Amino acid sequence: MKCFVCKKTVADDTELRFGKIVCDGCEPETFTQENMCLVSYAAIREAQGDEPHHMSLTDGNEVAAVIAAVNVGIDSRLQAITGCDFSAGKRTIDGKPELVLCITMECSISVEALPVLLRRLFDGNGAEGDKEIFDAGMSLAGSMMMVLGFDDTGNFVGREGLD
Ligand SMILES: [Zn+2]
Repeated sequence: MKCFVCKKTVADDTELRFGKIVCDGCEPETFTQENMCLVSYAAIREAQGDEPHHMSLTDGNEVAAVIAAVNVGIDSRLQAITGCDFSAGKRTIDGKPELVLCITMECSISVEALPVLLRRLFDGNGAEGDKEIFDAGMSLAGSMMMVLGFDDTGNFVGREGLD
């Protein structure tokens, strides 16, 4: 039996976690996506490459979910969302500032932070008790995974594999 993240051999009686073998060392660097499939931080970072992940959010609940997830600070796994850049601006019609359509939040998520953000959105960290924000975060994280090239079972298939 081998850990699905680091490929090290684990004891034969190691219990499966969400259908996968994962060693104690790698376990804190995994999360479950919307279909309860286990994904490793390493897979997310490999799909992301070396560049920050960019996205523009205009949905108020999605913005709230990201803010809530970031504001958790250092979590029980001693992980934090760092090295990211968030900026918000108002969208106007015909340049008239009084006609505000919505707020756009531009997000630049660092390589270190992306898997942590995804895990928190899937877990609803920071959105406890608010179903709308929890659902928006879950659905946002699902689309982010798809943009990165993961299918709905959490396997990396590449961006082309999803067409
Ligand atoms: Zn491992």
